[in-house]
Amino acid sequence: MSVASRAPEHIRRISPYQPGKPIGELAREMGIAEAGIVKLASNENPLGMSPRAKEAAVAALVDLERYPDGNGFELKAALSAHFGVGQDRIVLGNGSNDILELAAHAFLGPDCSGVYSQYAFAVYPLAINAMGARGVEVPAKAFGHDLDAMARAIRPDTRIVYIANPNNPTGTFVGGDALEAFLGRVPSDVLVVLDEAYTEYLSEQQRYDSLAWLDRFPNLLVSRTMSKVYGLAGLRVGYAIGHPDVVDLMNRVRQPFNVSSIALAAAAAALGDEEFLARSADLNRRGMVQLTEAFTELSLEWIPSAGNFVTFKVGNAAAVNLSLLRQGVIVRPLAGYGMPEWLRVTIGLPEENARFLAALREALA
Ligand code: PMP
Repeated sequence: MSVASRAPEHIRRISPYQPGKPIGELAREMGIAEAGIVKLASNENPLGMSPRAKEAAVAALVDLERYPDGNGFELKAALSAHFGVGQDRIVLGNGSNDILELAAHAFLGPDCSGVYSQYAFAVYPLAINAMGARGVEVPAKAFGHDLDAMARAIRPDTRIVYIANPNNPTGTFVGGDALEAFLGRVPSDVLVVLDEAYTEYLSEQQRYDSLAWLDRFPNLLVSRTMSKVYGLAGLRVGYAIGHPDVVDLMNRVRQPFNVSSIALAAAAAALGDEEFLARSADLNRRGMVQLTEAFTELSLEWIPSAGNFVTFKVGNAAAVNLSLLRQGVIVRPLAGYGMPEWLRVTIGLPEENARFLAALREALA
């Protein structure tokens, strides 16, 4: 008997997360220069990072022989001041992916279930399955979360519900009123992980204040990331805000030094740069119009998105994707999400969007 066959069944059944294709990999595969490749596959910020964050990251390149502050005091202090919440309500993650897993580690085991929506972010079932718990996938409504059905899907063994708002990969968005009503229906002993990785991209009218609900709903955990609008995806920093008891449990299963010293410093500096955030969100709004107008002109169906990406239907997505790759454009195929006719593209710089659209026209011709 092989050692691999001895791993628990629930681990052997896991199919790994498929990330966006790295630029270097496509360059190697297709023999194209990296400089000629446009990557719009991982919802990264095309403007890069805030200059303040870069400066802080460079300044943190000293003393790397020391461990980082395992409690992340400076970053938690910055988050605490920024959001007006106590530091005992904040847990830091190696990206918000880490936060999603820490919640699963703290609350799930073999006799539990976790609820999530069809087409929701792929890490939710991964995190649930890795704990040997049962995933309950609730059919989506118009590609988005059906909160009524999700509330009904909660059983006595359910310990976690994951909600992405906006959702990736569909970009669908649930309004604050509906979310608040949903929280009122969830039993108080079930943790609701509200994953707001793209919340900074919401329009004025879409905005809602989930942190204001924490006092009423101690079972709410709000997860955010520095990877998207803050442009720090490569550094890996995320955080969650919730009840101190929940945070305490997550800290018990967290690696002692899960966020690097460079990441801690850059994230703290990035947080206050409202000008960079506004510029990024504005660029995103204009790019969204640029892409969706072109999809409509090409008679392609697309899903209205509240994030920094948009998902569109092309029929033979595998063939279109291959053509795009040959032309040096990386987008995200969604077959793994059960959407084999769809592709997801991240909003890039205007010239990157134009490169993508030209390649798409060529691929569809
Ligand atoms: N949640 C959602 C909805 C996402 O789309 C992503 C990134 N793809 C994440 C969480 C995790 O991102 P990170 O670990 O970089 O914070």
